Amino acid sequence: MARIPRETFVDPRHTNDAYADGPLCIGCGQTISQPYIVALMTEAARIRRRSRVLEVGTGSGYHTAILAHLGHHVWSLERHAALAQQARGRLDRLGIDNVTIVVGDGAAGHPDAAPYDAIVVAAAAPKPPAPLVDQLAPHGRLVIPLGHRDLQHLMLIERTDKRLRERHLSPCRFVPLVSPHAFPEAW
Ligand code: SAH
Repeated sequence: MARIPRETFVDPRHTNDAYADGPLCIGCGQTISQPYIVALMTEAARIRRRSRVLEVGTGSGYHTAILAHLGHHVWSLERHAALAQQARGRLDRLGIDNVTIVVGDGAAGHPDAAPYDAIVVAAAAPKPPAPLVDQLAPHGRLVIPLGHRDLQHLMLIERTDKRLRERHLSPCRFVPLVSPHAFPEAW
């Protein structure tokens, strides 16, 4: 995390707060995630040099940059084309070239490059979207906030030999995953 300049990913108005441990607005009603939560999610995803990573909710591209630094390749899905384009520009300026950003509904995953060793979801869902669970590799790890509007629980869902194992990581509060597979409307 120390190698990724967070100020690159925030609006110039927020430069002074870039290293505060809190979320900040990034436009389109969305936020760059709190650094503590980014760290917790990344640690839980246990990304290795050869990992193929799917990220849902590119947002500013900050977490994408960290995932790309640790893994082999990151496919990152964002529903707002404007945010996706800005994130692409920032990653290009930092010379990060192992990221594919795709505009669309991330709750449907990205079957073209599946299965993934880690799937990191930065928006809240009522339950794990089936397409994401389906796109987990054996021993793959899905990190996702589950719950409702006011409070969610950050969960780690791991595909073991025959079943899925769930672990609660922390209470949290994310923007909604806007999708027929999650919350049909933004809040
Ligand atoms: N980790 C990001 C924060 C992303 S905020 C960062 O550090 O900047 C969550 C993002 O999820 C928002 O950009 C929002 O537009 C996006 N999002 C919400 N629903 C989505 C969906 N169904 N598919 C893809 N992206 C979605």
